[in-house]
Amino acid sequence: MINSIVNKVRPLAKKMISSRLRPLVNRAYFSILGILYSGNSVYCNCCNTNYRKFLPYSTYSKQVRNNAQCPGCGSLERHRLMMAFLRKDSPLFSRKNRLLHFAPEDVLQRIFKLDPNLSYLSVDLYSPLAMIKMDIMNLQLEEQSYDVILCNHVLAHVESDIKAMMEMNRVLSKGGWMVVTTTIDFTKPTYEVPGPLTSEERKKVYGQEDLCRIYGFDIIDRFSGCGFEVDKIDYASKFSPDQQKKFGFNKEIILLCRKLD
Ligand SMILES: [Zn+2]
Repeated sequence: MINSIVNKVRPLAKKMISSRLRPLVNRAYFSILGILYSGNSVYCNCCNTNYRKFLPYSTYSKQVRNNAQCPGCGSLERHRLMMAFLRKDSPLFSRKNRLLHFAPEDVLQRIFKLDPNLSYLSVDLYSPLAMIKMDIMNLQLEEQSYDVILCNHVLAHVESDIKAMMEMNRVLSKGGWMVVTTTIDFTKPTYEVPGPLTSEERKKVYGQEDLCRIYGFDIIDRFSGCGFEVDKIDYASKFSPDQQKKFGFNKEIILLCRKLD
């Protein structure tokens, strides 16, 4: 009920509240909502709390997803899936690591900033959440200066993903690794029209004005060509359907890219 009212006023609130203030307003909103949804049916691994249910969620143009958003911290399915992978099946938190995070998600960034093992930097060209404004195709960072990179839902929006991949390889340390997620249709090759295209042309070609391509199975070859060995991980399938529901995961494929020597 409360959430459906908020979903209706959200577009108006987005216009009225400045992008810098929005994360603070969001946090205050979720801290109240979390109390109202206290319970024991689902568990959020981003705020380490049980709730009565996850909330439905939709971006304005897309279908509503049920069991999606944490009422206490605002995390979505993909954030919780990523956090489960990083905590249980990666050495990110168990040793000292220098972590570079592109287009930081507020809920993940808060966790990384607080972790004593992480030396953390977030970058983006536009997001007010990023610590530094920087172009992923031209990183103002030294060679081999980071041990781990996190790059969620960025590369499909970048003019030259190959330039970005080469840059990420350059700044990764020897033995470094990178976690990448993006929308991929593994039944087809990547669909990419030679550009540059205007926003209207992109919308016509890709269905979204900020997309530069729609990835297919050859995304693996793109990473290989830029000096990475790639594991394609269907991480949600490691959990039973009941666990997936309790933790509120989606079925997104995680690409684990290890820098080759
Ligand atoms: Zn949460």
